[in-house]
Amino acid sequence: MNRMRMIQVLTCLAGLIFAATLPLMAQLPPAVGPGLPVPANTPKPAETPSLANEAVGWLADLVRINTTNPPGNEQVAAKYVARILLKEGIPSEYLDLTPGRTALVARLRSSAVADPSRALLLVAHMDVVGVDASKWTVDPFSAVMKNGYLYGRGALDDKGMLAANLAAFIALKRSKARLNRDVIFLATADEEQGGDASIKILIAKYWNKFAAGYALNEGGEVFLKNGKVQYVAVQASEKVAVNVAVIARGASGHASRPTKDNAVVHLAEAVAKIGAYSAPVHFTTIVRRYFEGLAPLEDDEIGKWMRSLDAPDRGEHAQRVISDANPLWNSMMRDSIAPTMLSAGVRVNVIPAEARANLNIRLLPGDTIDALLVDLTKLVNDPQIHFELQPDAGLAAPPSSLESDFYATITRVVTQEFGGAPVLPFQSTGATDSAQLRLHNVQAYGLMPAPLAEEDFRRMHGDDERMPLASFAKGVDVLTKIVTEFASSK
Ligand SMILES: [Zn+2]
Repeated sequence: MNRMRMIQVLTCLAGLIFAATLPLMAQLPPAVGPGLPVPANTPKPAETPSLANEAVGWLADLVRINTTNPPGNEQVAAKYVARILLKEGIPSEYLDLTPGRTALVARLRSSAVADPSRALLLVAHMDVVGVDASKWTVDPFSAVMKNGYLYGRGALDDKGMLAANLAAFIALKRSKARLNRDVIFLATADEEQGGDASIKILIAKYWNKFAAGYALNEGGEVFLKNGKVQYVAVQASEKVAVNVAVIARGASGHASRPTKDNAVVHLAEAVAKIGAYSAPVHFTTIVRRYFEGLAPLEDDEIGKWMRSLDAPDRGEHAQRVISDANPLWNSMMRDSIAPTMLSAGVRVNVIPAEARANLNIRLLPGDTIDALLVDLTKLVNDPQIHFELQPDAGLAAPPSSLESDFYATITRVVTQEFGGAPVLPFQSTGATDSAQLRLHNVQAYGLMPAPLAEEDFRRMHGDDERMPLASFAKGVDVLTKIVTEFASSK
């Protein structure tokens, strides 16, 4: 059975089980915002969800505030959010980090005495990565809306989440619901660079302002394919980023008399060996459960190998097939190494004494860089090569529990809202602020609740980043339901 056929069969089954499986567009509130074509099924204005409309406006305004990091200048965005909150009667507090860089916190109280272990933290970062404006078809900072999309840097990462968090938080306040736990809204700075204004510093200086037992952050996705949600991946763990310099040393000299110990040649050989190397496979519980959940959604061939990843007889072959099928799957199973930078030489006619490469390594949580470097030293087997650990290594955090009440709430709501789509725990290959939260005993989960197709997801950090407006409206709705349900639960 090919992939398309498999999806059709699944759709059919899901339809029988869940009464009606509508195409996504039918599940979604109408597309909103000025300049959009009017879809055929647009409801009357009275039915238009006003919160989602308001949230689109906040998202557009936030995109227009340029928070490219560096320098970030998140303070301007923080002030904007503070004004929105104030209009709703919610006081907020600036958490100053460095000049121009400020986080913002606000809280809806459940009782006079806060119990941080029960509190829910909604977190999103205000900074964005830079743009190569010449490659964009629109101005990256003017929040152009066309063809049902809002274009702009940060539309997905992470101002979409920021605006959705803001909407869910404000909805809770407007509902006047009786809360059984505090809900805290936190807009952070410096996520993309992780420097002096990052969550690490924020926790060190202001932890008591936002201490919580549970958190919702970026890092997970609602995976949309052919107009239908295939699955929801909830991030509960992440890999650990480490940079290592590979340094080759040799004698310098006149380029007219080549030597065998040329540092450039030794570095190139070392990088080639490392580039072809695959670290051993280790499965974490989350990755096992991810593949178990994904196997029935893939075509027969891939599904079969996903189920065999652990098999004693064909496990190794299965791991090779799955690794080759998708770079994400490969990286979820092992420590990964990507050479990212090279530098050598001072003049075209001088053999340099030193040549350097940077390896961007993503360790599985639980693996150590020391063990990997022992393996790489053996692999390279060259006394002219040295490895030097860079000081910016991330920290390994314990995974968030898949048995917590909050994970159960997320699972229940998204299953309901996305036509019975399966929920898979996810170990992201990229780093988020959640690792720092997990190190402080927070059960943090990643879920950007707007359904995104691969084609849109890929634009994150890329050109023409855009948010599908119908998906955003659905995401705001789902997030509001998750937050409201958990906030009022015992
Ligand atoms: Zn982000």
